[in-house]
Amino acid sequence: MSYDFIIIGAGHNGLACAAYLAKAGAKVLVVERSARVGGACHTAEATLPGFKHNICSVVHTHIPTGPVYRDLELERHGVRYVYPEHLRGTIFPDHRSIVMYREPERMAAELSRFSVNDARTFRTLHDDYGEFLESTFLPLMYSPPLPPSLQSAELEKSEEGRKLLQWQASTPVQLLDELFESEEVKVHFLSRLTVLGFAPDQFGQGWICLLRILKAEAPICVGGSQQLAQGLRSAVEAHGGVVQTGAEVQRILLRGNRATGIQTGDGSRIEAAKAVVTNVEPKKSFLRMVGEEFLPAAFATRVKNYHARGRSLFVLHLALSEPPQYKAAAHNPPVDIAFSQEMFGGTVREQVRAYHEVSMGSPPRKEMLQITLPTLYDPSQAPAGKHTAVVWQYAPYRLEPGGAEGWKNLREEYAAHVLDLWRSYAPNLSRDKILAMAIQDPTDTERQNDNLVNGVDVVGDMTPDQMGYFRPFAGWSGYKTPVEGLYMCGGFCHPGGGVHAGAGHNAAGVIAEDFKLKRWWD
Ligand SMILES: Cc1cc2nc3c(=O)[nH]c(=O)nc-3n(C[C@H](O)[C@H](O)[C@H](O)COP(=O)(O)OP(=O)(O)OC[C@H]3O[C@@H](n4cnc5c(N)ncnc54)[C@H](O)[C@@H]3O)c2cc1C
Repeated sequence: MSYDFIIIGAGHNGLACAAYLAKAGAKVLVVERSARVGGACHTAEATLPGFKHNICSVVHTHIPTGPVYRDLELERHGVRYVYPEHLRGTIFPDHRSIVMYREPERMAAELSRFSVNDARTFRTLHDDYGEFLESTFLPLMYSPPLPPSLQSAELEKSEEGRKLLQWQASTPVQLLDELFESEEVKVHFLSRLTVLGFAPDQFGQGWICLLRILKAEAPICVGGSQQLAQGLRSAVEAHGGVVQTGAEVQRILLRGNRATGIQTGDGSRIEAAKAVVTNVEPKKSFLRMVGEEFLPAAFATRVKNYHARGRSLFVLHLALSEPPQYKAAAHNPPVDIAFSQEMFGGTVREQVRAYHEVSMGSPPRKEMLQITLPTLYDPSQAPAGKHTAVVWQYAPYRLEPGGAEGWKNLREEYAAHVLDLWRSYAPNLSRDKILAMAIQDPTDTERQNDNLVNGVDVVGDMTPDQMGYFRPFAGWSGYKTPVEGLYMCGGFCHPGGGVHAGAGHNAAGVIAEDFKLKRWWD
């Protein structure tokens, strides 16, 4: 059997890439090692029948507004999103809180309870940068990254651009100190960033903080994240593509320096007439499936140096008989109906310290929590009147001492500790309200999907040396590789991890151009 293109891995990026190519008329095969499609878009009844838990991603910020949803007509393929009105609450240890809103006026009013000056600054930032970021950020995500010199040249042209360049060089904490006076306002915005795995005091990431200040959206996929993967699979198949699950690719077959197909675990060889495209992280793709001996030495070194050392998440999935009722709601009632809650201590310093402790292998004993209740806005994810909650607490993959193995001994005790932290904010969550619970420590995350090396959710660290033009490696950020006919399309490429299908979309564009396929999309 022969195909034009073989895509290795049915993560949402692999599926999106496949759907674009299939719709362009190519003969496409997607091969997935697991029994289901979606990779980290995974919904499962992890606790009790009828309770659908999102094992990894919950919020798909850029899917419904980005090009992929529209181009692949995902609504027709059963993918729908709901937009929570009350987005996120940051709750402080003294039970005051800030709830995040989409509308700038409403958000500014919320901030003014802490500082009138900060509310004014937020409005000004929105006026000055809101549209600018909206109109530049999405196009930058959904196209191959520009070399830094070109990107800087563009930004240098305007005052907003020059200011952005300076913020880009700074740390998130520096940016927040420059902009805001209230510690709570700073903690609120900083936690929006650190929860994604960005270090609070990392130089070169100030601009991401600005994005997180201004971009407030939390679309959730009705029925759970797996529905996005199902819809993408349906789009692939609707255009004649084939998706094969339960087949692990062992080798990428080569003739000279050209990829010609794949070999799966049962020894089957399948030919790709035009190209092989990998959705799988660099070390496995290149060192195992291609083989170091077939790579230029300098490229192999870059692959070996690709890192996933950042923080991971300790996750609890809960089936609840009722939603949490926060003490904070006494002062700010919408806290109870916000889609998610962040509890990150009371000061910026505490967040920075906790981040460093995690880097050194210590799971924080203080709350570094994000808690999300999809069922508040999508009741289809639990039996009538019941709820699911997902609790994320920062955590290292390797404990010091104990290493990754150490989680075996720690997980039950740490789960109880995390629950106690949560209960100190939401005292109604007594044992009888928790119908069942499943623990997912960082090693479980990697075991379920070995593409998430060290349990790092974004498929390799999103640090300045591994972002944009440097992702996965400088000179190879255009989805091509030194092996002819071998392309990359996963979250380890620009624009990085997370569910937006940017890498799948961009890789399809490059491949369409190289093979003169009809580029039917904008
Ligand atoms: C706990 C957690 C919470 C998260 N929450 C969010 C969130 O709320 N919002 C968000 O945007 N992002 C979130 N993320 C991150 C996001 O889910 C991932 O970054 C993203 O889904 C990665 O997509 P991908 O297609 O690049 O890779 P993956 O989804 O990892 O897909 C790769 C696929 O390749 C397959 N594969 C691997 N090796 C082989 C092989 N040899 N042969 C065949 N197939 C193979 C794997 O089985 C997998 O299906 C979260 C992640 C985690 C872990």
